[in-house]
Amino acid sequence: MKDAIRHLKRRGSLAGGVIYTVPGTRPVAGKAAVPVSAPEPVKEEIIIKTSPAKPGALDVGLAELENMVAGCTKCALHESRTNTVFGDGSPSSNLVFIGEAPGRDEDRQGVPFVGRAGKLLDKMIAAIGFARKEVYIANILKCRPPNNRDPKEDEVNACRKYLARQIELIDPVIICALGRVAGQNLLGKNEPLRVLRQGEHRYNGIRVIVTYHPAALLRNPNWKKGAWEDLQLLKKLHDRFTGAGT
Ligand code: URA
Ligand code: SF4
Repeated sequence: MKDAIRHLKRRGSLAGGVIYTVPGTRPVAGKAAVPVSAPEPVKEEIIIKTSPAKPGALDVGLAELENMVAGCTKCALHESRTNTVFGDGSPSSNLVFIGEAPGRDEDRQGVPFVGRAGKLLDKMIAAIGFARKEVYIANILKCRPPNNRDPKEDEVNACRKYLARQIELIDPVIICALGRVAGQNLLGKNEPLRVLRQGEHRYNGIRVIVTYHPAALLRNPNWKKGAWEDLQLLKKLHDRFTGAGT
């Protein structure tokens, strides 16, 4: 039940799913509450809406999904990969980071963000008070594009259902997309990073903010101030919608 409330609250839809019973009145379906002579005890009823399975969604758990990815040949990237890179961290986390695609180190180790950019990501995560193992980290693509070129549209489309199911299962309160490529592909938008960084977006109802990719910050340290501001917003929204620190 706690989870259900958390679920409704974080999506800003709590009021829509709750019937508040006013003392001395009785709620009547489809009508305003009518006064009754004998006041009933105050009670609060939570209505939990279970959403129907989305058409085409993969109906598997995280471990099975990881196995599916490990054997995936849906796009040409399977030919050149050493390892698939599924995800890392806590599957019960309320905070998920999404990168673009594995690089050389990730392809070798089968773990996201373990190279130089990954070390900086660890510091970004620490800067808002989390350990890497407390958050969840994944990528748009699960296999490395040759020479770290940008993902192609057909690759993103072939891989999309894996990430969708991954996020559905983890069901975080907020997602931080790292860089333009991750932001655009996650959100299905074409705006430049400067625009994507403004404010919050939604992915299937889940809050998303977009910030710089740590590899970009390694190349342009003068962008770190902006990244710091984005991370403060991320932390603020995370805390507000998980009720952390209250
Ligand atoms: N860059 C990414 O986008 N993802 C990784 O996992 C590593 C580097
Ligand atoms: Fe499959 Fe995604 Fe790897 Fe392509 S990138 S082979 S779709 S897991």
